[in-house]
This record gives sequence, C-alpha cells and structure tokens, in this order.
Amino acid sequence: MNFENTLAFAKALDQADELAAFRHEFLFPQQNGKTMRYFCGNSLGLQPVTARAALDAQLANWQQHAVEGWFTGQQPWMFYHKELKRLMAPVVGATEAEVCPMNTLTVNLHLLLVSFYRPDSHRFKILMEAGAFPSDQYAIESQIRFHGLDPAACIVEVSPRPGEQLLRTQDILDAIHDHRGELALVLFGGINYYTGQLYDLEKIAGAARGAGARVGFDLAHAAGNVPLALHDWQVDFACWCSYKYQNAGPGGIAGIFVHERHFDDRDLKRFAGWWGYEEERRFLMQKGFVAGAGADGWQVSCTQVLPMSLYHAALLQFERAGFMEPLRRKSMELTAYLYWVIGEVNRAAGSILFEIITPAAPAERGAQLSIVAKNKGKEVFDALVERQFLGDWREPDVIRLSPVPLYNSFEDVYLLGEALHDISSKLFAS
Ligand SMILES: *Cc1c(COP(=O)(O)O)cnc(C)c1O
Repeated sequence: MNFENTLAFAKALDQADELAAFRHEFLFPQQNGKTMRYFCGNSLGLQPVTARAALDAQLANWQQHAVEGWFTGQQPWMFYHKELKRLMAPVVGATEAEVCPMNTLTVNLHLLLVSFYRPDSHRFKILMEAGAFPSDQYAIESQIRFHGLDPAACIVEVSPRPGEQLLRTQDILDAIHDHRGELALVLFGGINYYTGQLYDLEKIAGAARGAGARVGFDLAHAAGNVPLALHDWQVDFACWCSYKYQNAGPGGIAGIFVHERHFDDRDLKRFAGWWGYEEERRFLMQKGFVAGAGADGWQVSCTQVLPMSLYHAALLQFERAGFMEPLRRKSMELTAYLYWVIGEVNRAAGSILFEIITPAAPAERGAQLSIVAKNKGKEVFDALVERQFLGDWREPDVIRLSPVPLYNSFEDVYLLGEALHDISSKLFAS
C-alpha cells in the first residue's frame, strides 16, 4: 500500500478497518484528564471493558456458593480452565489438550524445563539467543546448576554478527547443526523483547528435531501477537504470559503447551501437585501421583479462578475478532504504517534521528518497533509521554512502540508521527 502522511488518510484506513470497533471495548489510561494513546501492549495490554464484570461474576460465585463453587454455579471452578483451553488453543495453534492455563510464565518455564531438559553425559547443552529476556536466562542458569552442571559449559548463545542487531536465521540453523551431538535443548524466544525480531520458529523447530534435541519456545512477546502453529511445527513445549498481547491484566495467569506426542510418555519427569493428578480420581486423595491427561498433567496447584476470569474475558475478545488471522492482517498494516511514518520524520529532519532496529520485513516482526534514539532519546520519550503517547523506554537509548490491532488505530499512528516530528523540530532545531 502507498501510505500518506495525513490525518484524512489515517482516518480512511480506520473507516475501512473491520476490527475498528474493538477499540471501544478497552479502557485507556488517563493523564491530566486526557486519554492517552497507548503503544505499550508489548509490556502490559489494556484492560478490556468486560474484565471487571468477569471478575465480579466470580466474586459473586464465591459469595453465593463458597466452597460449593467448585462444583456448582454456571461455570463450576473444577472445570473452569477447560473453557480457557478452548480459547487458548487457536491463539497458539494447538489442540485443546495441548494447552493449559496455570501459574505465571517463569514458574511454568521452570516446570517445563524439569520435564524437557534432561542432560546426560552426551547431550547437555542448551542453545538459545544471546540477549534473551533476563528471567529466562536466570531460569536456564539455575536449571543447569540444579543438574550439577556449569552454565558456562552448557549454554550456547547465538549472537548477531559483528555490527548487526538481528539474528540471521541461517546462523541459528548452522549453530544448531554445529552442536548437534551435544544439544539437549533448543530454547528460543518467539519474538525478542528488545529488538522485536520474530524468529522463524518452524525452521528452528525443524533444525532442533534434525539435531536430535528437544525444542521449546518462550512466547511472551509472540502469543496473541502473531499466528503460531505449535502443534504442526512439532514443538516439544512452550510457555507464555497473558498480560502482554493477551490483555489479561498485571501478573495474569500464564499458559503452557506440551505436544501431544509426549502425553503417553510415563518416564517424563515432572514436579507434581494434586491438580495435575487424573481429574476423575483426584479427590480419592490416594498415594502415588498419576499424571492427568495432556498439558493438564503439569498443573500443580488448584485453579486460580480470579485471574483466570480476566484471561477468559480477554480471550473472548480474541474469539469475537476471529482469532489471529484478521488480527495479524491489521497488525502488519498498522506496524508498516508506523514504520513508514517514522521514516517520514527522519526524512523531514534530513537525518536518521530515529533508527528502527526491528526487521523491515513485516513477516519478521510482530506489532512492536524498537527505535534507537541516540540523541536525547530520553528527552524525546518524556516529551511523548507529556503529549499523552505512552510507549516504553529501555536503557540506554531504545523506545519501544507497539500498535496493537485490537485497540490501536491508524489515527494513533499518524498522530504519534506528528508528535515525534514536532518534538524533534524543537529539540534538534539547528
Ligand atoms: C515478559 C517476559 C517474562 C516475564 O516473566 P514473568 O514470569 O511473567 O514475570 C519472561 N520472559 C520473557 C521472554 C518475557 O518477555
């Protein structure tokens, strides 16, 4: 599409947008009585207007039924997670049995590593991206130590080439091949939180399998942002949080994926709890753990009904939007427009004030653009916030902006460009 840098053009795109009405189903932050334009869905998605009622409904169930709520009421808590499984499966491209809502992301990563990182004297290495999100790095280091091994000897990091910011797919595949005899696990993010690069997960999964290693993905920045096909790609396991692109609220319930080919493997180690026990016989309270069917068998504690009600409300919006395909279609346009608009700001300034390090190709990124603002970056960011544009700031010089297809408009993007142009004309006046 040929973009234009006018408000009328942006409004025309919003007019034609079949998802435009969803914007009214979200609550936007306010600043000095003004509604903010929100570009921070990569960090915390906005509150759906339906969230409060969903939470209230469960508080009412608790009030009315108390302990009986596990088995009575409209959605007995005992089976409540199944309705979430139904809605989570299409978001990540899995069967219902392969996904389960539980805990929080890093906790789930640990639980899955217990099952799927089983180092032996031949295969003990974990291949990952350099610069992975710190929580993942800490989880992996501590898991390696838990096995009595040395992280320095076990972690293989794939880095961008000197002078480059992004990983080349071929370099990832080559690294997997080069270490094929020693790899126990390939563990990658779906989208890098810092650069916004979307990795070729299908190819990475294929290469890992070819190397005889297990493969797992942390989809914190990918789930609800880009279409995924975890089942078809034959990924061994994956985990994600729900509070970024899935709008389930701060500290929201997280999700796991375990491929069905592992369901019958009784030798898989796991850290068990009563809620992972076979559902039909859980309350017989017998000695000796028997894993429940599918991903549910990784549950440890009882269903966290209150946070799940928020995730449920948010997922119902995804369902009404038609899940990932229409969302991705709009997202690619929206982020392409942002990419172009920032280019216009640079063109008007006659120099690259804002260097976008996220891949230029829409297929290699999600909603987010990461922008290096070397000169007065923090001042630019603060000036944006003062004008009610909320993105996020990463030291030393990166502004992350994520237009989200469920609640951002082309008008948001146009106005952000206008503000950026105005701010830089003032800050960089020669
Ligand atoms: C956001 C994010 C986390 C956060 O983990 P929590 O356990 O939810 O606090 C972890 N890993 C990645 C890659 C993330 O993007």
